[in-house]
Amino acid sequence: MATRWIFGSQLNHQLPIIKEADKEHDVFLFVEAQSRSTWQSYHKQKLVLIFSAMRHFAQELEEKGYTVDYREAESFQDAWTAHHKTYNSDTVYITTQTDYRMRVALEKWQSRLAKDITVTYLSDIPLFMLSYEEALDALDGDGPWMMDPFYRMMRKRFSILVEDTKPVGGKWSFDSDNRKPAKKGTTFLEARSFRPDEVTQEVIQKVTSEFSSNPGSLENFRWPVNRKEALAALNQFIEDRLPTFGTYQDAMLMDEPFMSHALLSSSINIGLLSPKEVIEKAEQAYLDGHVPLHAAEGFIRQILGWREYMRAVYIRTMPDYRSVNTFGHSVDLPSFFWDAKSNMNCIHHSIQPVVDYGYNHHIQRLMVLGNFANLFGISPQQTADWFNELYIDAYDWVVLPNVLGMALYADGGLLSTKPYIASGNYINKMSDYCSSCVFHVKHQLEDDACPFNALYWNFVDRHEERLASNHRMGFMVKQWQKREEEDKEAIRKKAASLKAQLASGAFHTDKNTS
Ligand code: FAD
Ligand code: SF4
Repeated sequence: MATRWIFGSQLNHQLPIIKEADKEHDVFLFVEAQSRSTWQSYHKQKLVLIFSAMRHFAQELEEKGYTVDYREAESFQDAWTAHHKTYNSDTVYITTQTDYRMRVALEKWQSRLAKDITVTYLSDIPLFMLSYEEALDALDGDGPWMMDPFYRMMRKRFSILVEDTKPVGGKWSFDSDNRKPAKKGTTFLEARSFRPDEVTQEVIQKVTSEFSSNPGSLENFRWPVNRKEALAALNQFIEDRLPTFGTYQDAMLMDEPFMSHALLSSSINIGLLSPKEVIEKAEQAYLDGHVPLHAAEGFIRQILGWREYMRAVYIRTMPDYRSVNTFGHSVDLPSFFWDAKSNMNCIHHSIQPVVDYGYNHHIQRLMVLGNFANLFGISPQQTADWFNELYIDAYDWVVLPNVLGMALYADGGLLSTKPYIASGNYINKMSDYCSSCVFHVKHQLEDDACPFNALYWNFVDRHEERLASNHRMGFMVKQWQKREEEDKEAIRKKAASLKAQLASGAFHTDKNTS
């Protein structure tokens, strides 16, 4: 007998672990482990998504005539021991894991509990475009690396939007056509959502009773939990929402938590959709004349470029990457990150969708929340843990490079060329948050000044030497250096006072925010 062990982030019927299965001699093992879930305090909706998707996937295999052993257990070890007692397999197949902690946990399991068993790791394609080994080889040396050459290599390697090794449309990236602010009142077609079926409702009950102290609300669960729903979400996105994806990719509006974003990461990251099919559908939509090139290319770059690049960096740099902290930041993350009750309107409107759905879009993650953490000097590890626990699409391999590398620059520039910091001015330009905020976006030193303003310059001041040699930050450093010493001192004082206020519980409010 052979066991084929399926994990919650590997739910794809095209994986070799499924395609090579033998109905006569193999048993599929699924483990809904409580200890793994309580290990970090995940958003309730994340638990519902994983447990429900696993249950649906197991059911699909049963319907195809396979033997399935689905176990709800305290730990993976308990489940394995009971499974082994029943099936006594001499071979276990596992799909290669990207997450470092899971790889270590499996090594431990093998040395303690499966010494006499043959454990074979199978390819993780199509969960990613590159296999684990190919991703490891895709980046040279110890960094720093850049996304652009990696993305060009991927476009050519997979022949996506490429003609005779040249990019369709003459440019590899149409990013400059995107990034437009959206005026208040701009409307977007609604993203498809899915009502919890019987299986999901059962899981919701379990999570409600057994994980009641975990963060997040369960009221608005909307995520695809099986292949059929994920495909419906993909098709609706390509058909209705991809055409406007690029234009407002960096915009933020109070009444539009989703805008034209795909809302597909939760499905792609657990295998319900393969990145290849998503990319090919977007490319086809362009070839059919249904979407403009800048929208298709902008979207494809996120998946073929950023997603694969981040994973390659993770594989290349772990386990040391987890503890990077170039700026030596150590302030605690404030409690309003868990309930969205902040009087900073941008923070409130970026965190509220996280509480409601385990989601917000990229620019809120990067330019509002990452920016807040960097400018207030929050511990990068606490910030990464928060992202890991609160998001529907979060896994170690995607969180660490995005948070520690892209958002916080805590790795000193291993994967991106500059810290993504901003004053209130940028947030005001890209959103409608500031007009109804208690803080004044144009003020710098006054009591009602937008906290990001003094903190931005304080960041430039604190890291002047490092930033001066960065060609993308040099201009800002020069602007700072031109200021009168008196001005600089006033900004330093204001920044110190803002940090002290944060420590004493300011920026938290019990009032309903706008
Ligand atoms: P869209 O904006 O519509 O993008 C399309 C797809 O591109 C996404 O579904 C995703 O698969 C991919 N993608 C885009 N950018 C990235 C990126 N930087 N890294 C990896 N994939 C990308 N993405 C996650 O999947 N899980 C995370 O936990 C996560 N944490 C993040 C934390 C921070 C601080 C930042 C700055 C980014 C993070 N991202 C993460 C990347 C990105 O923000 C999300 O993939 C995206 O917001 C998911 O929503 P969407 O499906 O609507 O994506
Ligand atoms: Fe955020 Fe500042 Fe704008 Fe308020 S004024 S919403 S704190 S950027």
